[in-house]
Amino acid sequence: VKSSETMEFQAEVKQLLDIVINSLYTDREIFLRELISNAADALEKFRYLRLTEKDVRDSELPLEIKIEVDEKEKTITITDTGIGMSKEEIVENLGTIAHSGSRAFLRHLAETDKKDVNLIGQFGVGFYSAFMVAGRVRVLTRSYSPGRQGYVWVSDGTGNYSLSVREDLSRGTSILLELKEEAGEFASPDKIKNIIKKYSGFVPFPITVNGEKVNTVQAIWSLNKNEIKEEEYNEFYKYIANAFEEPMYRLHFSADAPLSINALLFVPENNFERYGFGKMEPGVNLYCRKVLIQQQAEGLLPEWLRFLKGVLDSEEIPLNISRETMQDSALMAKLRRVVTGRFLKFLAEQAKNDSDKYVKFWDTFGMFLKEGATSDFQHRKDIAPLLRFESSKSEPGKYTSLGEYVTRMKDEQKNIYFINGPNREIIEAGPYLEAFRIRDVEVIYTHEPIDDFVLSNLAEFEGKKLVSADQSELDLPEAKETVQDNEEKLDSLSLANLTTWLQQTLEGKVNEVRESHRLVDSPAVLINLDNYMTGTMQRVMQMVNN
Ligand code: ADP
Ligand code: MG
Repeated sequence: VKSSETMEFQAEVKQLLDIVINSLYTDREIFLRELISNAADALEKFRYLRLTEKDVRDSELPLEIKIEVDEKEKTITITDTGIGMSKEEIVENLGTIAHSGSRAFLRHLAETDKKDVNLIGQFGVGFYSAFMVAGRVRVLTRSYSPGRQGYVWVSDGTGNYSLSVREDLSRGTSILLELKEEAGEFASPDKIKNIIKKYSGFVPFPITVNGEKVNTVQAIWSLNKNEIKEEEYNEFYKYIANAFEEPMYRLHFSADAPLSINALLFVPENNFERYGFGKMEPGVNLYCRKVLIQQQAEGLLPEWLRFLKGVLDSEEIPLNISRETMQDSALMAKLRRVVTGRFLKFLAEQAKNDSDKYVKFWDTFGMFLKEGATSDFQHRKDIAPLLRFESSKSEPGKYTSLGEYVTRMKDEQKNIYFINGPNREIIEAGPYLEAFRIRDVEVIYTHEPIDDFVLSNLAEFEGKKLVSADQSELDLPEAKETVQDNEEKLDSLSLANLTTWLQQTLEGKVNEVRESHRLVDSPAVLINLDNYMTGTMQRVMQMVNN
C-alpha cells in the first residue's frame, strides 16, 4: 500500500503560485479572509446538507471555526467542522483551477505591476493566497460522507503536493500554515483577531482564536433598518462581495405580500465585466429563515441583474429546492418579479433624488440595463425610464432620459427620433440631422450598436413611437421654411434624368433613387427602408452572420 503519493499541480496553478509566492504584497493579511470564507462555505454546505441527509459523519459536532495561533512555532491552524473533502475533491479543488474567471485573473496579475491580490477571492482561487504567508501548507480533511477516509495534503507551493491517508480525523477541514520568516507578524493572536474583525465579522458561525470568541453571529438582513449602523452595512457588503470598497447603492427591504421576503442588495462601486474579466456570476445568495439555500443563485434574479450582490431570504422557499427547479418554478418566477420590480423602483427614486450619482451608476452599469431592455420582456417597460442618452438638446457629455425628451416634444411632433453614430461630432456632421434641425426637433444620439436594438425593441415610450432618423417614413411636422421655397429648383425633366442616371450608376447598391425634401445642405442621404432594423443594426447583423 502506498502511504503517500506525490502529485503535480495543473500548469495554471503553478503559474498562479509562482506569482503569489514571488511577489511583494501590501495586503497579505487577506489570506485569512479567504481561508475563513472557505471554512464558512464548507459549514454552510454542511448545514444545508444536513436538512435532508440523515447519515452524516460526527453529526453532534458543533458548526464552528476554530483558529489556533502558536507564537513560538509560528503556525496558524484554521479548523472547521464543515463538509470536508473526499480524495477526488481534494485533487479537483486544491490542485486545479476550475473557475472560469481565474484565467482572466491570472492574465490580469501577470500584466499589472501593482498586484491586485485583493481580487483573488472574487476569481475563485482564494485558497492559494495561503502561500503569500506560509512556506508550507498542510490540509487535513475528512468528508461528511460516512464511507470516506481522511486525508492529509501537504505542499510548499512549488510544483507538487503530497497526499496521504489519515484515519483519526473527524468531519471537516484543518488548514495548518507554517509561516514564512518574513510573515512572522501573523503569529500573534491579537493581530489575527483584528484581521477577523476587519474582514470576517459577518461570518454566520462562531469564530474563536485560541479559545476566545471574536465575531458576533447575526443575519443582518433580518434585523430592522434602524438597528443597523451604516458601518455594519458596509462591512457586511465587503464580507459577502469579497470587496474592499464601499458599495455604490444599498437597498434593504422586506415584504409580506405576495411573498414574505427579506432582501439586502448592493450595487458595487466597480463593474469588472467592463474591464474584460468575462461574464460575471450572479451575486445574490438565497436564504430561507437564515439558512443558506444557494450561494450565487442562478435564476434567482434575471441574468441582467448579475451585477447585484447581496442576500434574499424568503420563508416560502422549500429547503430542498434543486438547481433545476430553481430556474423555472412558479415560486421563483414570483420572487424574481417582486425583487426586480422593487429594485427598478429603487433606481427610479435614486435617479430622481440624486441625478449626479445616478449618472455615475449609469456610466458604470448602464450596459446591464440595456441588456435588460433588450432581453427581459417582463421588465423592459420599467427599465425604459431609467435609460440615459445624449441628444441634440443635451450639452455634450450630458444625458437626457426619454421622459425628459417627451416633455420637450413639439405639439405637432408624433415620434421620438434617434440616430446612431460613434460620437456627437460625427452625428452632427452627417446629413440625417438636417431635417430635424430646420424644424427644431430633438434627436437622441445613440453611440453604441446595442442602443438601436434597445430602442427598436422598446418600439414606443409613453405612447410615442421610437423612430430611427435614417428611416424612410419620418412623419415630421411641417417645416416653417424649406429649401425649395427660396432656392432654385431643377425642372422636372432634369430631375428625372438625374435620378435615372444615379439609379443606373448605383445599380445593385441601392433600391431606388428619389427626390428628397428632408435635406437642407447635403446633396444626398442614404435612407433605410427597414422599419425595424436601423442601418447600424443591419451592419451588426451582417457582422454576426459572416
Ligand atoms: P472558491 O472558494 O472561490 O471556490 P478557493 O480557491 O478559495 O476558491 O477554494 C477552492 C475550493 O476548495 C472550494 O471551492 C472548496 O470546494 C474547496 N475548499 C477550500 N477550503 C475548504 C474547506 N475548508 N472545506 C471544504 N472545502 C474547501
Ligand atoms: Mg474561497
